[in-house]
Amino acid sequence: MTKRVVLIGHPVAHSLSGAMQQAAFDDQGIDATYEFWDRPPIELGDAIVELRGDDYLGANVTIPHKERVVPLVDRLTEEAHATGAVNTITKEGRRLVGHNTDVPGFRIALDRLVGKQKMPRLAVVLGAGGGARAVVYGLITEGFQRVVVFNRHLHRAEGLVKHFGRSASHMELRAMPWHESIIEAELAKTKVLINATSIGLVDDQAPVPGELIPPDLLVLDLIYSRTRFLRDAEAAGCTVSDGEQMLLHQGAAAFTLWTGKPAPLELMQQKLKEARAGGVRSAEGEPAGDAATPATEGAPTGAAAPD
Ligand code: NDP
Repeated sequence: MTKRVVLIGHPVAHSLSGAMQQAAFDDQGIDATYEFWDRPPIELGDAIVELRGDDYLGANVTIPHKERVVPLVDRLTEEAHATGAVNTITKEGRRLVGHNTDVPGFRIALDRLVGKQKMPRLAVVLGAGGGARAVVYGLITEGFQRVVVFNRHLHRAEGLVKHFGRSASHMELRAMPWHESIIEAELAKTKVLINATSIGLVDDQAPVPGELIPPDLLVLDLIYSRTRFLRDAEAAGCTVSDGEQMLLHQGAAAFTLWTGKPAPLELMQQKLKEARAGGVRSAEGEPAGDAATPATEGAPTGAAAPD
C-alpha cells in the first residue's frame, strides 16, 4: 500500500518541503506520497483524527497549527514539549507522536554559521513566534548564557520567557521592548543576532535599520532568502546565513523519523534550490526565488495541493 505523509497548514498550496520530501521518498525507494492539506483551524481536529488511519506514515505541521496541534497528539518528544510546538508527527500504531525538528534544524544552522569559532554565549533574538521558540530552546540547550528576545508585542516575548522559565533557570533569558535604542544597546553587547520575525518575507523590509548592526556579529535570518536584513548585516561586516540549512535539516530529521532511513541530504538540498528557483513557496512562507527565473528542467514548479 502506498503510504501517505501530509503537510497540514493554512494555506499550503505550494511547498518547498513537498519538493524535497517527495524526491527523498522516490530516491530511497519508499512507496509514499507527500500531500498538502490546507486546513483552517476549525478542521485541524478532524485532520489529526484521519492521520490515525493505516495508510498514513505521519505528517508535517506548519503555520498556523504548530502550537494548536500539541494537545491533539498522544505523546510529545522533549523538544516538542519544551517548545510547546509540533512540526512533525509520527505514528506508533494508531498513536500519534509530536516532534519539533525545527530545533535540530536550527542547531545545525547555528553550527554552520559559527564554523570553527568557539560557540558564543550571547545572543539577541528578534521575534517571539513558533520559529523563535525553536531558536531560543536551541540556544538554551547549546549553553548560551544570555539571550535577549525583542518582539513587537512585548507580551508575546514575555510569554516566551515565562514558558522557558525552568529550562532557562541557569542562564539569563530576557524579554525587551522593541525600541531601536534598546536594540542598539543590546547589539553592542552580543555576538549572535537572529531574525525570527517574518519581516522581509514578502517585501524588502528589514527588522532593524542596517546602521544599528555592529560589525563582526554572526547573523542568521530564518527566512530562506537573501533578505535586506542579511544584506545590511553583510555590508556592516558580519558573517551571515539564511534559513536554508534550518529548513533542509528540519526536513531531513522528519524524513528519518518517518522512514527510519538517513535522509539523502544532497538531493534534498538540490530539490529545495530547484523548487525555489521555480517559484515554489514554502508552507513556512519562505519567499520563492525570482519567479522570472526558469525552473531547472524536471523541477517542481509549484503544483497545486492535491486536495
Ligand atoms: P509566527 O507567525 O509564529 O511569528 C511571526 C513573528 O514575526 C512574531 O514575532 C511577530 O511579532 C513578528 N512580526 C511579523 N510581522 C511583524 C512586523 N511587521 N513588525 C514586527 N514584528 C513582526 O511565525 P514563525 O515564528 O513560525 O515564523 C517566523 C519566520 O521564521 C517566518 O519568516 C518563517 O518563514 C521563518 N521560519 C523558518 C524556518 C526554517 O526552517 N528556515 C522554520 C520556522 C520559521 P508579533 O508577535 O508582535 O506579531
